Amino acid sequence: MRKNQKGFRCSFCGRDKAEALILIAGIDGHICEVCVEQAQEIIEEELYANDSQKVESGNTALSDHLTPKDIKTHLDQYIIGQDEAKRFLSVAVYNHFKRLKQKKNDDVEIEKSNVLFVGKTGTGKTLLAKTIANFLNVPFSIVDATVFTEAGYVGEDVESILSRLLQVCDYDVEAAERGIVYIDEIDKVARKGDNPSITRDVSGEGVQQAMLKMLEGTVVNVPPQGGRKHPEQKLVKINTKNILFICGGAFVGIEKRIAKRLNTQVIGFNSTEKERVDRENLLQYVTHQDLRSFGLIPELIGRLPVLTYLEPLDLNTLKKILVEPKNSLVKQYKRLFELEGIELNFDDEAVTYIAEKALEYELGARGLRSICEAIMTDAMFEMPSQKDVKEFTVTHDYAHEKLSGSKLSKLKVA
Ligand code: ADP
Repeated sequence: MRKNQKGFRCSFCGRDKAEALILIAGIDGHICEVCVEQAQEIIEEELYANDSQKVESGNTALSDHLTPKDIKTHLDQYIIGQDEAKRFLSVAVYNHFKRLKQKKNDDVEIEKSNVLFVGKTGTGKTLLAKTIANFLNVPFSIVDATVFTEAGYVGEDVESILSRLLQVCDYDVEAAERGIVYIDEIDKVARKGDNPSITRDVSGEGVQQAMLKMLEGTVVNVPPQGGRKHPEQKLVKINTKNILFICGGAFVGIEKRIAKRLNTQVIGFNSTEKERVDRENLLQYVTHQDLRSFGLIPELIGRLPVLTYLEPLDLNTLKKILVEPKNSLVKQYKRLFELEGIELNFDDEAVTYIAEKALEYELGARGLRSICEAIMTDAMFEMPSQKDVKEFTVTHDYAHEKLSGSKLSKLKVA
């Protein structure tokens, strides 16, 4: 191999030595760096085109005997409440697999059933998406939509949504093309302000526009390491046709828009039971129209056809979340202590106290973990060195005492 040979030209594009950075000599000709890159692209295109055909012909065996009810039953083991969201998700996933199995020459093309969850933080949106991906045994990744809008030029390219997915399946493109992507905080890419023509937030709308094709299904050039694309980077081609996108957002303030639409002032409390609007939980009435008035563009809304909501968590649900799921926090602490040979118990008042505190901090179920840690850390520190202790019960007073002494107790809601 010789570099920059005098008088030689690239045998592919004709560039001479002065124009090319590198000229590589072969047995009977030369090639420049630009042609090497192009050749590489052609090779990748050919290879990945074959891969996507493989996906189309379907690796859908795992869903063969699955019904929406089966899917929901599985979700029930991990997620408390949120029945509506679970039903919608189960049907969406079921249809997604039916779509994957659809014959290519079918003249009725089933469209993708991407999902949009609307619900307060910590109500289980991510958990739902994660649990379904685990169940289906497909690659799963979570991305935060806010990184695409950050300060204009600093934001990442939208294609990097798929970089994470590629990374979790060790750059196995075929696996990634069957995966599920959860896009969190989708509400943050909403166009700010009601009047799109005057006060529009360019970055927000730009991100929404950029996402359209990807959500619908196209071949995307993905930077394998994420971040922004740059010219020298090798890009990996991913076909998003069979990737299920689940988006979630809190859509803070959307209730006002829903209320306005429902015109609750008129319906009010004097009306009949049937007409009465549950003002405590207006999210249940959310429609695509409300999302539009919140600032999502109609094209994006159209690509997220399955719209559902998550209920705010009340005291009872929080208590159940602490105790009931297959890997609930209480079960996890019990197991940790059991490994030390200690039987751990939480009495009912302690569970109620923890749930009340989580409600107070307004962190949804996410707060439960930090509250439990604050309560349990001392015991977890002491117990392993106290060999004679065989049983330990967390009471209301113990929980209160530990939490009052912790930094968390300073966390007061404004
Ligand atoms: P978000 O709605 O903000 O995406 P997450 O799904 O991340 O909320 O929930 C945070 C944590 O709270 C989860 O890891 C889970 O432990 C717990 N959690 C939230 N909602 C539920 C629920 N309905 N059932 C069981 N656990 C829940």
